[in-house]
Amino acid sequence: MNIIKLPDEQGFYGAFGGQFVEEDLKKEFNKIADEFNKLKKDENFINEFNYLLKHYTGRPTPIYFAKNLSEKYGAEIYLKREDLNHTGAHKINHSIGEALLAKKLGKKKLIAETGAGQHGVAIATAAALMGLECDIYMGEIDVIKEKPNVDKMKILGANIIAVKSGQKTLKEAVDEAFIAYKKEYKTALYAIGSVVGPHPFPMIVEYFQSVVGREARKQFLELVNTLPDYVVACVGGGSNSIGIFDGFIDDVNTKLIGVEPLGKGEKLGQNAASLTYGKDGIIHGFKCKLLQDEKGNIKDAYSIASGLDYPGVGPKHCYLNDIKRAQYKTIDDKEALSAFFELSKAEGIIPALESSHAIAYAIELAKENKNKKILVNLSGRGDKDIEFVLNNKISQ
Ligand SMILES: *Cc1c(COP(=O)(O)O)cnc(C)c1O
Repeated sequence: MNIIKLPDEQGFYGAFGGQFVEEDLKKEFNKIADEFNKLKKDENFINEFNYLLKHYTGRPTPIYFAKNLSEKYGAEIYLKREDLNHTGAHKINHSIGEALLAKKLGKKKLIAETGAGQHGVAIATAAALMGLECDIYMGEIDVIKEKPNVDKMKILGANIIAVKSGQKTLKEAVDEAFIAYKKEYKTALYAIGSVVGPHPFPMIVEYFQSVVGREARKQFLELVNTLPDYVVACVGGGSNSIGIFDGFIDDVNTKLIGVEPLGKGEKLGQNAASLTYGKDGIIHGFKCKLLQDEKGNIKDAYSIASGLDYPGVGPKHCYLNDIKRAQYKTIDDKEALSAFFELSKAEGIIPALESSHAIAYAIELAKENKNKKILVNLSGRGDKDIEFVLNNKISQ
């Protein structure tokens, strides 16, 4: 199977991606793409990035054999512990990369949007580390729901802009952040939160996240002496999943499974399963599978996990879905919550609600595939979700 690894000149992975933006932004983005392609070959840049991942973030994160969960369900379940990263999730990987890139480009400020607040915290952290200004756009509902993260961002020195338009969640935050960026792009870098947006952002974020897959493959071979049968990761925009998939993309016997949030159900507006229910469309400057009605109006996405409620999805995932190198499945709110408690009680690891989707699917897989080896990307820890879960009196 000949799999496209990098986008073409126009930023397409097969039919998806591209650069649907105004001419002056196109120029800026192409400049960023050129600079980035040079930096990828610059030993100083790579060494600086790797140094920070090791000494600041705490990489490599381990792989853990979830013995209790495995015994209960009959398959071998392994967790890539991205929850152990500084700031509690995989997002610090690309945040440090983006802050470093901003420095090299001579920018003074990072502009970002955030849903669960995880990306905001990661970007605010990286901005503090690199001495950059930082403006974070966040839907007003998420500002309330994710208060601990909002407080953290403020402590870290970021400006929080609460977005009051539309559903007041992630999609509107991206809209507003983009409007601000258009005014400030000469001195600021858009620090996008996932493998989404116009070219070259999906390519850049993927590059910074691919460390997860590189580590995981090596660690899995060392620990288990073979490759996993399945690699499972949750899909919001698609950064933690693409990061771990990258390590196994040429291992055709390893099945790659992305897990999308089914939220409250199959109807438009009840979920954020873009690859499962979306149709081709353009959002935030790129082409992807998009949740939209018959008239092509983009529909607000929903998931119990704020970090997953985006109506689009990264272009590389759309491509991997098309060529069937990866499969995309769904898990609903209830199943994710149940996995949240299950992993906490079985292994003493409280997962993020986002990651709980991947755990839930791994449990389903384990029930039907005894003795198979399943590697799950545990993208983040659940500390940020505890108050929300308890306040909603959700317990098991
Ligand atoms: C943001 C987030 C996600 C979803 O983003 P992706 O780009 O799809 O990885 C998943 N897990 C955690 C813990 C998050 O914070």
